[in-house]
Amino acid sequence: MKFSYKILLCTIMTMALAFGVSGYLFINYVFQNSMEREVGQAMNESSILQFAFETAALNIPSKYEVLQNGTIEQIGVKLESSGGEGRRLLRLSDENRVPLYASDGFVEATDFLEQIDAKTRIYRVIQRENRYYVQTGAVITSLDRAIYLETMKDVTEVFAERTGGFSVYRRMMIVVLLVSSLIMLLLAHLLTRPIRLLTRATRKMARGDYSYRAKQVSNDEMGQLTKDFNRMANVLEDTIRKLEEEVQAREEFIAAFSHELKTPLTAIIGYADLLRSRKLDEEKGFLSANYIYTEGKRLESMAFRLLDMTVTRHGEVDLQTIDVENLFCYLKELHEADHENDMCFRFDYQSGKVLGEADLLKTVLNNLVDNACKASEAGSEIEILGEKVEGGYRFVVRDHGVGIAPEERKKITQAFYMVDKSRSRSRNGAGLGLALCTEILKLHGSELEIESTVGEGSCIGFRLAEAIDE
Ligand code: ADP
Repeated sequence: MKFSYKILLCTIMTMALAFGVSGYLFINYVFQNSMEREVGQAMNESSILQFAFETAALNIPSKYEVLQNGTIEQIGVKLESSGGEGRRLLRLSDENRVPLYASDGFVEATDFLEQIDAKTRIYRVIQRENRYYVQTGAVITSLDRAIYLETMKDVTEVFAERTGGFSVYRRMMIVVLLVSSLIMLLLAHLLTRPIRLLTRATRKMARGDYSYRAKQVSNDEMGQLTKDFNRMANVLEDTIRKLEEEVQAREEFIAAFSHELKTPLTAIIGYADLLRSRKLDEEKGFLSANYIYTEGKRLESMAFRLLDMTVTRHGEVDLQTIDVENLFCYLKELHEADHENDMCFRFDYQSGKVLGEADLLKTVLNNLVDNACKASEAGSEIEILGEKVEGGYRFVVRDHGVGIAPEERKKITQAFYMVDKSRSRSRNGAGLGLALCTEILKLHGSELEIESTVGEGSCIGFRLAEAIDE
């Protein structure tokens, strides 16, 4: 069953119950009041009749100074017809509760008569053949006699009014309920609109449309729910987009990795096959073995770099205070003794202390210097610089080599990406150096800053937080 119908049904049931109970109580209250009035009148009439009887008894001449049964009967007839509107219903009985006179229609049994005593006037409400009466009873003491007086007052009208009231109220209630049901149906439809809009949004999202948002149509709790739902949908969409990007990056990584494996392996297998299948002269044999060695070395360095990257990605660093002097000294010793590259290194740095992990930072700086060497002609100048900047320290490696095109700058930090593949491979590169640097710097809360002009050279650096002396 629809939620709006449930609201409607509950409201109708509550209203019907409320109207029913309050109507019943109200009509009964009016009835009780009318009945009390009728009973009061019946009791008054009984008093008046008692008084009238006593007066009449005193006025009727009697031989024996006692009230004869015949006299009582006469008084009864008189009292019966003395009522203003029509005849009264009354019964007079003697001391032994034997009826002496009864009006026509007063056919009540004498059980009520038994309950009358001399001190109190009593009454009861009775129903006889679809008519209702208030029956009263009292004792009249006159001329040494105790006469029982009973009266009956017709109150059918009051009961008929109550029945009529119920029937009018019932009809009125049905009309009111019908009209209010229509209004409630409209209101329930309006109130449940945010739910319908949310359901539509949920279904759309379940079908894969993550950009769909529910329309907010109110500022109440339902509006808040819609707002929260949309907020959740934003987070979900972001997460899904990130996951998709990650999956794509992983696929690209695997494709690039397989490709990078294939090239050295094809060379290794080809030269090994040549060596085992025929006898080569000494020079060719040496060349083949050399190819196998250099390609094997390339595979080895690739494997190490990949391992470093994986470890870095899943690790955490214990950041310590490092004197930059130590890092620059290390680089000086390493590269000034490196005659293989035949480069002209220039070191220029300010003293300072940074927060980091020394070995990882050496790896980053080594990679940047290696790349600068690879990109430059022999004898070219490589500058390794360090300067204090606001809140930290900046390391920069500047070369005057081939430079990097603007569209390549973002890609070179991806694993296996090489701008000039043959140049990189010839220098033992596999496109993993900057990817590893990026991962290490991420652990330090930093990133690579690349500036470059094609044909003029590059300037690649990064910032670290300054260590504060205690
Ligand atoms: P590789 O192992 O090939 O050096 P990197 O990830 O270190 O891999 O670098 C990726 C690519 O970025 C290199 O192949 C190179 O083409 C380019 N590159 C990196 N540093 C420089 C630089 N200083 N000057 C020019 N190109 C550079």
